[in-house]
Amino acid sequence: MKNHILSQTLESLQDEFLKWGEARWRAGQLLDWIYRKHAGNFDECTNLSKALRQKLKDNFSFYIPPLLQQCDPGDETRKFLWKLEDEHLVESVLIEAPSESAEDGPGRKTLCLSTQVGCAYGCKFCASGRSGFVRNLTAAEMVEQFLGIERWNRSLSPTRTAPERLISNIVVMGMGEPLSNYEELLRALALLNAPWGGGVGARKITISTSGLVPEILRLAAEPEQYRLAISLHGASDSVRSRIMPINRKYPLDALLAACAEYQRAKGRMISFEYILIDRLNDTPEQCHALAAIANRFRAHVNLIPYNRVEGCDFKRPGQDVIQGFYRELLNLGISATLRQEKGGDMNAACGQLRLRKMQDLKRGPGSS
Ligand code: SF4
Repeated sequence: MKNHILSQTLESLQDEFLKWGEARWRAGQLLDWIYRKHAGNFDECTNLSKALRQKLKDNFSFYIPPLLQQCDPGDETRKFLWKLEDEHLVESVLIEAPSESAEDGPGRKTLCLSTQVGCAYGCKFCASGRSGFVRNLTAAEMVEQFLGIERWNRSLSPTRTAPERLISNIVVMGMGEPLSNYEELLRALALLNAPWGGGVGARKITISTSGLVPEILRLAAEPEQYRLAISLHGASDSVRSRIMPINRKYPLDALLAACAEYQRAKGRMISFEYILIDRLNDTPEQCHALAAIANRFRAHVNLIPYNRVEGCDFKRPGQDVIQGFYRELLNLGISATLRQEKGGDMNAACGQLRLRKMQDLKRGPGSS
């Protein structure tokens, strides 16, 4: 099977071009077509000779998954559903948000990237975990989510002159547990971070994990300065274990020790994600325990009211409880944000678009 062109680095392409008797600098031209001009096949790279384009076709795949569905759940998010070469479905989300700093430019456009088809970790509130693990994504399939959205953006401009770059930030928080696909994840992020590739700064890339302790420690030892987000969702072992099976393997003590090591190695780069679920983790006791954890790391807390997932009995707390939890965190001196999505929409929750489409496909034509 041919390697995918999107898995290649500048250096690997330069080596290949030299073997073919081509000039090394032509590799830079090719990458410029892919990452800046958003070419979708080798024939679009018109300043490469026909002979070179043929060599590329003979040696590399340039498969682009079709965009099966694109929806706008009504807030600042836009969801994309891709059909992979083996027909599996994978989801990406584009999130628009105002800038937090001058460094961010006029407004952040964040890609929420998937790393696996399905997920083995079975968190009780999550649509992605409900259909089980299917397979890891390759680095090229992760890079393609980035480029697919960039191409979609360019296609909206009638003159195809949209800005070279739409996406400013990446959060690896889509379908799958990223750290269980460690090598391919790091390979993809290196391509998306490279100046000749995606060009997204390492500090604008956040990896979110449900808490794989050995891989957090491994990541702490890597040279890259990626940010780390922990899907916490419970501030005590008893509550966390009820909703996240991973907590039985790596309880809070072990997880927080790994976070401390990550912070020691990288500086202040940890945040906590916390989905608020009615009468489960929305109590004053959980709020105070969460504040104590966040305070220990001087970490930001991202509160997300629960989004309904088909087949799951959890409920979103009432607005008064959500606001009370949020205000209490702020009163306790914690830096926190409350993400108010239009959660009544079933498609708004992570992994839901794929789950819905799979159910439609099983039901047969005319069901969507
Ligand atoms: S929350 Fe993340 S780790 Fe848990 S089941 Fe969903 S995708 Fe997997």
